[in-house]
Amino acid sequence: MRQYGHFINGESVAPSGGQYFPTENPYSGETWAEIARGNSADVDAAVAAAKAVGEGAWGALTPTARGKLMRRFADLVFDRAEHLAKIEMTDNGKLAAEVVAQVRYLSEYFHYYAGLADKVESHVIPTDKPGVFAYTKYEPKGVVAIITPWNSPLTLTSWKLAPALAAGCTAVIKPSEFTSASMIEMAALFMEAGFPKGVVNAVTGFGQEVGEPLVVHPDVAHVGFTGGDAAGRRIYALAASHLKTVTLELGGKSPNIVFDDADLDQAVKGVVSGIFAATGQTCQAGSRLLVQDTIHDEFVERLIDFVKAAKIGDPAELDTQIGPVATKPQFDKIMSYIEIAKAEGATCVLGGRARPDIGAGQFIEPTIFTDVENSMRIAQEEVFGPVLSVIKFKDEEDAIRIGNDVIFGLAGAVWTQNLKRAMKMTDKLKVGTVWVNNYRATSFTSPFGGFKQSGIGRESGSEAIKEYLDTKCVWISSDLDVPNPFIRR
Ligand code: NAD
Repeated sequence: MRQYGHFINGESVAPSGGQYFPTENPYSGETWAEIARGNSADVDAAVAAAKAVGEGAWGALTPTARGKLMRRFADLVFDRAEHLAKIEMTDNGKLAAEVVAQVRYLSEYFHYYAGLADKVESHVIPTDKPGVFAYTKYEPKGVVAIITPWNSPLTLTSWKLAPALAAGCTAVIKPSEFTSASMIEMAALFMEAGFPKGVVNAVTGFGQEVGEPLVVHPDVAHVGFTGGDAAGRRIYALAASHLKTVTLELGGKSPNIVFDDADLDQAVKGVVSGIFAATGQTCQAGSRLLVQDTIHDEFVERLIDFVKAAKIGDPAELDTQIGPVATKPQFDKIMSYIEIAKAEGATCVLGGRARPDIGAGQFIEPTIFTDVENSMRIAQEEVFGPVLSVIKFKDEEDAIRIGNDVIFGLAGAVWTQNLKRAMKMTDKLKVGTVWVNNYRATSFTSPFGGFKQSGIGRESGSEAIKEYLDTKCVWISSDLDVPNPFIRR
């Protein structure tokens, strides 16, 4: 069986505690590899390597030279995308049809930030103090911790790592314990691209054993986290006690809002892509369908007809549309929410059952609930699975009220052909991303992140690099006279 060590200071390293844990294929149920079980000693070694190279060979490179290395890495990721994607699919059951393109697309993130590396320009300040030349400088924060979930391991790592490297930081990554292997394989490509040893390190293992020591490590300056809100809160509290900066990308309960003037065929596809793509295991899932009461019954009928035809099965087959649930705990969580929804009085109009007959049985039918009130738990809490709550609304005001009435604010969409209505909705929805007549588009060019309890900070886009930089102001006096040292100039 394949065994993966940590990746520290440019090489594969056995765990200092000598322990490994199994990683499973959610489709077949088979254990296919063993992953190093890290501890705080492994974290210390990785942070020390990252710190040393940041102050040494990596720190000595010009931003242009950093960019060149990043471009080489970007090309390698593109070339090896199929291999990396196969590992992700084996670990989390995501569809081959989606994940190969997704991994290839990561090269764009590294190209984009490679280009940005030498375009972070500072300013000369037209200060009010005579005889002084003042300017700003942006400096890398230092060692960055990157902690990621299982649903899109390499994508969510790259959203943080590409701007961090462009900024001149070094990184220690802790991938999810369910999907560690792809990160270990990707880390090795940095060496092939010619990066100095220690710029990118990965320590595998569990949240408390690796994640927490990493967050509180005195030489880690910033924590970039994507995951659930419970772990997010814990990490935020730990980081606060050490006064570290964070970016947190957490969950959502995003409204997908369909007005009666929408192109309903397109809206059906948009709703499906929002909640049934990736088996609903995406942070931006449009898990609440808000549909105008005048078209409710017709729209739900069309939606059911479309979803009924979806092919559930082996994620490796290119025509599969719904794959397995990635982990057993997640499977149990989704099934428990289906029971909660029924107990709350929602009506299950499609699915609602597990499919023990497919693969190793970690499958759940695409599930639609109608008669959902926005106050129900099924409308308020993140399920992170193929479960859609359908809620009726009357008019724009009602849609805005219901759309915003959750603790989250990650994303939302509006389906309408009325431009004025679209503009009003984009203004009023309290979310970090609004799509109009589309769903689930993201890009390296465009900021992504949450309002309210969906997160802190932004990833992607040109401003994301600032999350990894500290601003320094330099004052140079050309006037050697210090008039009165007891009074501030
Ligand atoms: P999770 O929060 O359980 O784990 C995420 C990562 O944090 C894992 O690597 C885990 O080991 C680590 N971790 C857990 N506890 C920790 C602790 N105390 N200290 C340090 N690290 C700790 O999330 P998950 O179950 O892997 O992923 C699903 C969640 O991720 C969902 O809630 C989803 O909404 C969220 N998510 C958000 C986005 C986004 O961009 N907003 C994207 C994908 C997933």
